[in-house]
Amino acid sequence: MGASPVSVASPVWIGLGANLGDAPAALAAAVQALGALPGTQLQRCSRLYRSAPVDAGGPDYYNAVAELHTGLAPLALLQALQAIEQAAGRERPYRNAPRTLDLDVLLWDEERIDLPQLTVPHPRLYERAFVLLPLAELRPGWASAAQLQAVAAQRIECLGAWDGLA
Ligand code: AMP
Repeated sequence: MGASPVSVASPVWIGLGANLGDAPAALAAAVQALGALPGTQLQRCSRLYRSAPVDAGGPDYYNAVAELHTGLAPLALLQALQAIEQAAGRERPYRNAPRTLDLDVLLWDEERIDLPQLTVPHPRLYERAFVLLPLAELRPGWASAAQLQAVAAQRIECLGAWDGLA
């Protein structure tokens, strides 16, 4: 008898953002969709935040971070995220355009991924309060005081618990 197969699920953190339409509803639906992906469990979700657009115009963004455990390969997860964005009506008319839903792979366990389609940790992770604050909720002590201080001037407000919390 051979050894039984080992199922390897990686902890992965996904950043969610939206600033068009009913953005909180789009984020809640996206969190549900993430938890329904094959081989994937939703572990936790941050509280909901509202933030000023960074490098972009348009309405304020709603943001959150979800923690998954997934057995999907990185590019399979990226493809699944893009399908969820499409299903939410995402269009890409120009860079940083307002969006009904944006899903980013922020962290993949302790790994570094350098593929043409996927860079992890996300290259702009440390520049954005709307990523650092919800991620810091799920990974206390992960962001340093200096990293949090570096984004302290960005306008962001925590709206508290929400439907996305499983
Ligand atoms: P966006 O307009 O922010 O949705 O950017 C999507 C593009 O960024 C796609 O072409 C992805 O292949 C690429 N990309 C690179 N790294 C990442 C990442 N960590 N998470 C999501 N998309 C990524």
